[in-house]
Amino acid sequence: MSAQIIDGRAIAGRIQGEIKASAGDFLEAAGASPGLGVVLAGDDAASAMYVRMKRRACERVGIVSEARLLPSSASQREVEDAVRGFNEDPAIHGILVQLPLPDQIDEEAVLNEISLGKDVDGIHPMNLGKLGMRGREPTFTPATPTGAMILIEETGQTIEGARAVVVGRSNIVGLPVALMLANANATVTICHSRTRDLAGQVGNADIVVAAVGRPEYVKGAWLKPGAIVIDVGSNSVDDPASEKGYRYVGDVEFATARERAGFITKVPGGVGPMTITMLLQNTLKAAWRSVVA
Ligand code: NDP
Repeated sequence: MSAQIIDGRAIAGRIQGEIKASAGDFLEAAGASPGLGVVLAGDDAASAMYVRMKRRACERVGIVSEARLLPSSASQREVEDAVRGFNEDPAIHGILVQLPLPDQIDEEAVLNEISLGKDVDGIHPMNLGKLGMRGREPTFTPATPTGAMILIEETGQTIEGARAVVVGRSNIVGLPVALMLANANATVTICHSRTRDLAGQVGNADIVVAAVGRPEYVKGAWLKPGAIVIDVGSNSVDDPASEKGYRYVGDVEFATARERAGFITKVPGGVGPMTITMLLQNTLKAAWRSVVA
């Protein structure tokens, strides 16, 4: 049996339609469009591409985006000043600092500078901390994990009581998605590079979220038949047959996994479009909060 594909592109398209309508209402109510400020430091090609994709997505839904582009030699002060400038700008409702920052920059200090009400990436330590605490509501939840959760919900399967395995424990993906699954009452196991018997752990899971950063690392043969598989991975691999000479694959071995899973996302076309969409949604949320506050 072949798994049902969870079509991230279609789901993201639908949500972006709703965002566009609400951004139009915001323009009418506030006399200005919602605004996203982006800080990009350095010349990492992938980061520059993500920033371009985010700018185009903003244009599509009626959000104004403004970028501060800094050289790879930028100082701590310059990067923090860029963030502070956006904090003080009333036309900017959300701030995104594109990671990774150049080596000489203290990332945590920069993220700490983002005003909580504008942390549309949801990665301020305070927002992450609240995500992990019972009875606390973060101002924003991080984009990729929020998108992954929506994709799981879209399957219509019950999360409560399900066994979930998250492979990866990074601050931006693995850890927050594990916390969100626990908040949705799944029983969560977090796996990482020191986990023993990863295949056995994955084999117990009704829901698998793979955020490892290794191409096709999670094998289809490991999966419990019928599992929901969310592949966060985005790895460029050589492909002489393709025009560009490379293609993107996920952290899950898709060809074998789709034969065993019940539901699965594709790469590209799964979590990626949702990440951008959640960023737009958080920016819109921040804009509306600024007028009702
Ligand atoms: P990180 O490199 O920060 O984290 C990777 C995690 O995987 C770590 O927790 C690491 O464990 C774990 N890991 C590494 N090797 C193994 C192994 N052999 N077995 C088990 N666990 C292992 O990556 P990110 O979380 O930032 O990203 C993960 C993936 O998601 C990447 O492919 C990235 O490109 C993609 N991504 C996609 C996004 C999208 O929008 N689609 C957005 C963000 C990321 P340990 O902690 O022990 O080192």
